[in-house]
Amino acid sequence: MAAPVFEIKQLHVAVEGREIVRGLDLTVKGGEIHAIMGPNGTGKSTLASALMGNPTYQVVGGQVQLDGQDLLAMSVDERARAGLFLAMQYPAEVPGVSNANFLRTAVNARLGEGHEMPVIKFHRMLMSKMKQLSIDPSFADRYLNEGFSGGEKKRNEILQMSVLNPRIAILDEIDSGLDIDALKIVGQAVNDLRSSEVGFLIITHYQRLLQHIVPDFVHVMMQGKIVRSGGHELAAQLEAEGYDWLKQELGIEDETVGAPA
Ligand code: ADP
Ligand code: MG
Repeated sequence: MAAPVFEIKQLHVAVEGREIVRGLDLTVKGGEIHAIMGPNGTGKSTLASALMGNPTYQVVGGQVQLDGQDLLAMSVDERARAGLFLAMQYPAEVPGVSNANFLRTAVNARLGEGHEMPVIKFHRMLMSKMKQLSIDPSFADRYLNEGFSGGEKKRNEILQMSVLNPRIAILDEIDSGLDIDALKIVGQAVNDLRSSEVGFLIITHYQRLLQHIVPDFVHVMMQGKIVRSGGHELAAQLEAEGYDWLKQELGIEDETVGAPA
C-alpha cells in the first residue's frame, strides 16, 4: 500500500455551540512525525477528538482526507479501519471487557472479515508487544484501564497503537503521567513503529517527550489554529524560552480559545 497522506484543510470544530478549532491546516504524510505543541486550552484535544469522530465535537467547516478519502463522512469505526488511531489524553475505563479481548476485537476489525488473526498468533504477538512496553502479562486479562494508574493507561494506549499498526497515529499528551523510564519506553515504541507506512501527530505541551522522539515538524497551536511551524529546534526554543516571545511576536494576549460563555 502507498504511504498514507492525511490532509486537514481549514478545519473548524465547535463544542456546545462554541468554536474551538478555528481554521486549522495540516498535512501529515507517511514517514513524518509532526508535533503540535501549545499551552492548555488552545484546542489540541478538541482537534484530536474531532478527527477521530467523537460526536461531542462538531465539525462546522473544512475538510479532512485520508489517502484522498473524505474522513469526515466516515463513522468512527470506518476511520479506525482506514488506519486512523488516537491515543487519548484521558483513556476511558471499560469494566467487563478484558484488555486482551478488546485488543483482539480491534485488531480483527482492522484486518477485516476473513482476515482475522488466529487466536494463538494474536496471543503471541500481544505478549511480545507487552514485554517490549514493560507491561506485566497480567494486564492482558484485566478489565480495560480499570484501576490502571495514569502511567499504565498511557502505556496501554501505546500497546493499542502497536498492535493496531495504524497509518496515521495521533497521540494526545501521551507523556503526561509518565515517569522518565516510561517516557523512554513510549519513545522507543514510537521509534520502532516509525516507517514510511505511518505518519504521527504528537500532541504535547512539554518538550521532554521530543527528546526521545525527534519530530520532523513542530507546530504551535494557539487560539484554535496553528500559528507557527518549524523544525525540532522550535520545540527546544519553546522549552528554553516559553511561549511569551511568540505571543508577543504575534500580538496575541490570550492564547486560549477563551473561557466558556
Ligand atoms: P487543550 O487540549 O489544548 O488543552 P481542549 O481542546 O481540551 O484544549 O480545550 C479547549 C477548549 O474547549 C476549552 O475551553 C475547553 O473547556 C473546551 N472543551 C473541550 N472539550 C469540551 C467539552 N467536551 N465540553 C465543553 N467544552 C469543552
Ligand atoms: Mg488536551
